[in-house]
Amino acid sequence: MCLNRLFLTLGFDFRKKMKSLLRKIPAVIDGELIEREENCRICNGKTGKQIAVVDYWDIKTSRLIKCPTCDHIQLDPMLNDAETSKGCFAYYIEESLITSNEEQFKNCERNFRRGVIFGYSLKSKKIRPHSILELGPGSGYFSAGLQFVFPGIEITVMDINREVLNFNQEHHKYNIIRGIPDNFVVEFVGKFDLVIARDIIEHVTDISKVLSNVNQYLTPNGYFHFITPNGHEDVWKHYLTAILTHSSSELLINHVNYYDGKGLNKILVQKGFIPVDYFTYQFKTTLHGSGWKKNQKLMSPVSKRKNADLLIKEKAKEVLKSEFIKGKILDKWYIQKKAKWITCLYSLYHHLSLITINPELNIGHEIYGLFKKVNNQ
Ligand SMILES: [Zn+2]
Repeated sequence: MCLNRLFLTLGFDFRKKMKSLLRKIPAVIDGELIEREENCRICNGKTGKQIAVVDYWDIKTSRLIKCPTCDHIQLDPMLNDAETSKGCFAYYIEESLITSNEEQFKNCERNFRRGVIFGYSLKSKKIRPHSILELGPGSGYFSAGLQFVFPGIEITVMDINREVLNFNQEHHKYNIIRGIPDNFVVEFVGKFDLVIARDIIEHVTDISKVLSNVNQYLTPNGYFHFITPNGHEDVWKHYLTAILTHSSSELLINHVNYYDGKGLNKILVQKGFIPVDYFTYQFKTTLHGSGWKKNQKLMSPVSKRKNADLLIKEKAKEVLKSEFIKGKILDKWYIQKKAKWITCLYSLYHHLSLITINPELNIGHEIYGLFKKVNNQ
């Protein structure tokens, strides 16, 4: 292994370090067995282990419950639509105030490059989508990257936030639909050959319903692409606050699902999919201790039950509308329509994950999935 040889010459035994780490991670997450208020959305279980108590702003206090049968960790009781909507808006304001325009432009460019890489990975598998649905598109630049690789594709985006939809319509000319992935849209049945959900499935209320919907929206042999945090690592910060301080922690960003790598694959198979690519990537956070080190520095902050209404009232006006101009964001030397290989190589240089592992190990930061529909739901 030449990588290890390189590290050895630098006085660092990578293989030895990895072996000692793998013995410790992932650490066991456990809690008291209790009755659930709402059944497990994956296996319908009625009991669960309480991992943490969390506050979603001052909007709701709830619990993170781990299902002893399928290992899925979920908020119980779940947030309702009005609570989610208010908390998301407050979070959007808070984030906008600390993120500069320049950083937002850079994020768009990064997502564009990720879309380019994804497009070429599809091409290498002889997959050529024509009609795409992206759930929760954000700035829409991931799909723009995909459109760069496949110029003829038709893109539809679904979101609950009107501003997000308007932005995607004005800047990218995508088709838009207002809604959430849990709600079934009958007109979409059999309409798309690719459905994309990047950093979305950790936010949905009922993952079983969402995957059934995605299955039905796809054409026969269509594909589903998602990324989502490794649930074990993502919930670790709340677990630490619970066991080290016995206090509730802040759930400002509404991650209401924490997926187990094995369980997620299992439910996708149950919903009529088979894995094409399924792996975990990014391990910096793991090396720092997420998912295994019982260190106060890794905790989620003890809840202050932040006032969402006050933030919305006082700061909403301060969030200036950014001057997004698509041409300007994509006016970069490496984005060449006549030499797309340059764009692809540059994007790979920035975002290629050299190390990937099986999500079933529950190690690492982010799970990547490309699944193929094989059965109708
Ligand atoms: Zn379950």
